[in-house]
Amino acid sequence: MKPHPATKIIHPEYTAPEGFSAIPTAIHHASTVLFENVGSMRSSAWSDKSTYTYGLQGTPTSRTLEARLAAIEEGQHCLLAPSGLAAISIVSLAFLKTGDDVLIADNVYGPNRELGHWMAKNYDISVRHYNPLIGGNISTLIQENTRLIWTEAPGSVTMEVPDIPAICQAAHARGVLVALDNTWSAGIAFKPFNHGVDISVQALTKYQCGGSDALMGALITRDAELNMRLETVHKTLGLGVGMDDVYLILRSLPSMPLRFAAHDHHARQIATWLSSRPEIDKVLHPAFPDCPGHDLWLRDFTGAGGLFSVIFNARYSEKQTDQFVDSLLLFKIGYSWGGAHSLCVPYRVQKMRAGWTEEAQLVRFYVGLEDVADLIADIEQAFKKMD
Ligand SMILES: *Cc1c(COP(=O)(O)O)cnc(C)c1O
Repeated sequence: MKPHPATKIIHPEYTAPEGFSAIPTAIHHASTVLFENVGSMRSSAWSDKSTYTYGLQGTPTSRTLEARLAAIEEGQHCLLAPSGLAAISIVSLAFLKTGDDVLIADNVYGPNRELGHWMAKNYDISVRHYNPLIGGNISTLIQENTRLIWTEAPGSVTMEVPDIPAICQAAHARGVLVALDNTWSAGIAFKPFNHGVDISVQALTKYQCGGSDALMGALITRDAELNMRLETVHKTLGLGVGMDDVYLILRSLPSMPLRFAAHDHHARQIATWLSSRPEIDKVLHPAFPDCPGHDLWLRDFTGAGGLFSVIFNARYSEKQTDQFVDSLLLFKIGYSWGGAHSLCVPYRVQKMRAGWTEEAQLVRFYVGLEDVADLIADIEQAFKKMD
């Protein structure tokens, strides 16, 4: 049979020679995954990571990224999700059902709070918020039906550093799981499983991507059974990722430790300068003594990255601090972070959290990779626009 050209372009005769070797991970795109024969198709299991069944469950490209991310945090298993928020929602859907109770730290990433409200309203799950500095006293809040405790270290706006080992110990004594949103540390500055955490979540959108151009999340565990619970939700809801995006993260990952160290170094210089300024009352940076939980950061963390907040002096109104943010030239206004560009966002924490008593204005800085003296000069000129 002599195939028609239309067939030939779909079933080419050419095969590339063996032996190609290069540094980048190949981008394996796939919806359909091909089986050798019907027998291997019938015996394939979606949960078996030694084989492939369908693009939603990954290709060699995504499996490579998963293995590298698990290694960073000293975990065993990793699943990729379409965003950091999708990774968070997989955890809550995997471990909570109607009638259960979840404890969510009062300083968690805002959309995680909103997910809690949504689950409470639609699924009759009891959702309670706790003071992130509660430590081992969380045991007093644990009920018969408590299944999960959400933590974030530090909280990504207000920066309190929780006592993760104490929370984990209290939780495990009552058979409760602890999930940590570990995005701030990128898994570099805090090793969650060595401190008792059961499930670590990363917004890869941040440092892992580093380019402000891709969205992705990761779920990392040490325990095979926990991973399987997460994987079941991941599969059931069809939360796969695109391999071009996976490639963007793979490409950025080798430089992440160096970028993280540079963000950390720059941010601490700027935070030091800010702490000497009359406009600023408190620097909420875990490496600085003003930050609640600073001693726990010293005990449990090895670095800090580029994200911190400040509390302005109470004499400045919201209008004035908004004027400050609007006057910045190098620091841009926008959500998310982790790229090379510095960012600045004012937060109305009083409206977000019942337990927040600070009345002065809070502004969050993300320090990128620009020259530090230029960034300080930018902040200085914007301070002058506040009066
Ligand atoms: C950005 C962020 C997320 C969500 O990540 P997306 O990919 O934007 O959904 C979750 N947690 C923290 C702490 C974050 O900073």
